[in-house]
Amino acid sequence: MGADLTALLRRRHDDWLRAAENVTPEGRMFVDGGYRDAASGATFESRTPRDGSVVALVARGGEQDVDAAVRAARRAFEDGRWRGLSPRERKEVLLRWAGRIREHTEELALLETLDVGKPITESVRVDVASAAFCIQWYAEALDKHYDEVAPSGPGALVTVTREPLGVVGAVVPWNYPLIIASWKIAPALAAGNSVVLKPAEQSSLSALLLARLAVEAGLPDGVFNVVPGTGQEAGQALGRHGDVDKIAFTGSGQVGKLFLRYAGESNGKQVQLEAGGKSPQLVLADSANLDAAAEAIAWGICYNAGQTCNAGSRLLADRAIKEDLLGRVVDVIHGFTVGDPLDPATTMGPIVDQAQLDRVLSYVDIARRDGAEVTGGDRLDPGSGGYFLRPAVLDRVPHGSRAVQEEIFGPVLAVAEFAGIEEGLALANQTAYGLAASVWTSELTVAHRVARELRAGTVWVNTFDATDVFAPFGGVKASGSGRDKSLHAIDEYTALKTTWIDLS
Ligand code: NAD
Repeated sequence: MGADLTALLRRRHDDWLRAAENVTPEGRMFVDGGYRDAASGATFESRTPRDGSVVALVARGGEQDVDAAVRAARRAFEDGRWRGLSPRERKEVLLRWAGRIREHTEELALLETLDVGKPITESVRVDVASAAFCIQWYAEALDKHYDEVAPSGPGALVTVTREPLGVVGAVVPWNYPLIIASWKIAPALAAGNSVVLKPAEQSSLSALLLARLAVEAGLPDGVFNVVPGTGQEAGQALGRHGDVDKIAFTGSGQVGKLFLRYAGESNGKQVQLEAGGKSPQLVLADSANLDAAAEAIAWGICYNAGQTCNAGSRLLADRAIKEDLLGRVVDVIHGFTVGDPLDPATTMGPIVDQAQLDRVLSYVDIARRDGAEVTGGDRLDPGSGGYFLRPAVLDRVPHGSRAVQEEIFGPVLAVAEFAGIEEGLALANQTAYGLAASVWTSELTVAHRVARELRAGTVWVNTFDATDVFAPFGGVKASGSGRDKSLHAIDEYTALKTTWIDLS
């Protein structure tokens, strides 16, 4: 069962505007199976980047609220109301949850679009659908996972079993609120843990609905809690809590390092970091299909208005094809429709808020000062109150420029040329990040060799941003450690236990 996706995807702008007027977001936090205000009674405004208006007042969780959520999660873990169920029983609950999410596609998609500014068709087709599928996938996997018997010889039976860690704190960013939350919650719950989720300030609403749907699906109270609030308050309180066993974090590298510090200064909890990126798209001279490459490069930097950790923000093209390729990329970018994310015709929505818009514009200025030839990068329709931006292409920007080295997190493509594969590879690897990269070539052996040499958690060959829940996702270098997605993610939320039974 699910929503009628075909009908949702046929809707017009007017239909979505009417639906948005009728949506009534829940802004209270979700602890121990129910909604409640923050202990202080404090709230903050959740504004939409469409026009800057207030969508909801959201509970501003603080230390006391985080503590209440962690205690609820701990009680649920210790009494075994979730981890004590058989894998098959846990699977049934998670499958029902995935179903409830699909039934609420319209509401969840609206919340995601209003909070973040994603084009509504993408919220429906991609964000809600992927979150539901991720939960379904881990549900289906969890009763097919076997533990191990070690090769001990006849004198002993030695088992190696995976045990849940206990209470997991998940701290997520605003760019894919439902998807990134599900990458953490689904394997953590599948493994039998309890979870406290701290969504980003800009995007708490879909997570708060997700929690109610979980309980409606049969997830016992206290197993999944959501405490919205600022990073400084709720985020830090979770990171420093002495009874949290693990923090699963996605966000900026700067805040990721704070979580390492919080862990070191509290109980030494495990910390998994998925941080930012500056992903290169390396196009070699023998690349056969420049139109396909141009399409992927344009989408790779403009999807979700460039606010994607693995956005292909650096185009590195061999001198022999660079001008031809760049012309095609710019043509594709000119074809994008920037506008109201509730309009199904929109292909690129606004930047998430004023602070992020200012940040993106400041990098365009930096590139200009460093001598780049800039096209686009100007604010559109400021009278609407929304944060709309024309995508920017920064050509011939020096490699040492901050616009090339630092994550901008907006629709800004830095372009450079190289002469030959070795120079291209060297440029591709010359940033602090290592999240993702792509190489475009027609030579199979070159593709394999370059893929091996690229320092990144994911390398695409002749495509970009191809993804599914079965493929691990995460980075090397400053892009983080650990992996979301795939069966490997279950290892992130379990500890191996050795049990040695003497048979002699
Ligand atoms: P951010 O680091 O500012 O915030 C992430 C989360 O941390 C939010 O929930 C925030 O409230 C919290 N936080 C902020 N300051 C904190 C503090 N002092 N103490 C504790 N918690 C704090 O990131 P953002 O701006 O929300 O998201 C954008 C960043 O996320 C980009 O760098 C992007 O690359 C990264 N990202 C990475 C991935 C990945 O999988 N590698 C995916 C998406 C986004």
